[in-house]
Amino acid sequence: MKHRFFAWALAAALVLTGCAQRSSSLSRTVYAMDTVMTLSVYNAAETALDAAEQELLRLDALLDRHEESSAVSAFNAAAADEPIMLDGELLSLLQKAMGITAATDGAFDVTVAPLMDAWGFGGEAYRVPSQDELNALLPLVGAGGLTLTDTSASHKNGVRIDLGGLAKGYAGQRVRDILTEHGVQSASIDLGGDVCLLGTKTDGSAWRVAVRDPQNSDDFLGILALEDCFVVTSGAYERGFEENGVRYHHIIDPATGYPAQSGLSSVSVVCADGAQADALSTAVFVLGESRALTLYQNAEALGLAPFELLLVRDDGTVLLTAGLYDRFTPEEGVSYAPVG
Ligand code: ADP
Ligand code: MG
Repeated sequence: MKHRFFAWALAAALVLTGCAQRSSSLSRTVYAMDTVMTLSVYNAAETALDAAEQELLRLDALLDRHEESSAVSAFNAAAADEPIMLDGELLSLLQKAMGITAATDGAFDVTVAPLMDAWGFGGEAYRVPSQDELNALLPLVGAGGLTLTDTSASHKNGVRIDLGGLAKGYAGQRVRDILTEHGVQSASIDLGGDVCLLGTKTDGSAWRVAVRDPQNSDDFLGILALEDCFVVTSGAYERGFEENGVRYHHIIDPATGYPAQSGLSSVSVVCADGAQADALSTAVFVLGESRALTLYQNAEALGLAPFELLLVRDDGTVLLTAGLYDRFTPEEGVSYAPVG
């Protein structure tokens, strides 16, 4: 049996900085959350980047379920049905995650940890679990396995959480807030596929974010012109392995236990809320086009912050919701259409 890595965590979107950025710029590369992150700030001091870097490392240490000393590990290791006091920040992230689970019919669910491990996405060797194995694990997945109060949380026997689906988006939000506190007005932060744009470029024009072609990750599908928002992309090509000619990627459908096959090969979510953008990119990838558009139309009623979608069908067609359609410049030969 042969395993082969494919495109290890290639940044799904790229912020293009042209010569219009004449002012002084500083950038910093940080390795956190299994990802190479690049912070670029304009008209700012190194101290702003120092503070942002510290925050990324702090969040990595708090949220990494593979780090024994993290708050998430402590929660996962706690005895079944035993409420433990949780760090307030982690508790509110969990509350947010569960709200998104409810809004997405369980397509996003932080209790996927046992499934991630079964596939070897927890850092173990990649493998294809048997149907029996998945059947035994599926009852451990679902919001019913977690109970939250205002100060504590508990889980049922065998239930474990993995915040990998929204941690980077939340981290981007914190970095944006810290940079803002340091007086930074223009920055682009690339957390490996999760892009955070602070303000505009220093000449007042919109940032240009190139969206990668999921079929051929050397190419781009087009460019989005955006300001002050998060752009989070989930694609089947980002992380995964190949066994006997079949590709298995790291976004798991909690309903089946298998890597999601929804007819979409890439999903980008644009939203002012980083954690929500990240969670929804994962959820929409699982939901597929038609359920994603229902979610989009009902966002407000479901308690979600407003968001916009760029979907890429398996056949390569790009679909854009109303707020993005006029902001998109396709590459030559890319077919695209409005939806929603
Ligand atoms: P990445 O973090 O690689 O950019 P995503 O944001 O799409 O990609 O999130 C994938 C990560 O989310 C996985 O590595 C795993 O930790 C977690 N995950 C996978 N499937 C789900 C799911 N259905 N619901 C919530 N989290 C998930
Ligand atoms: Mg995500």
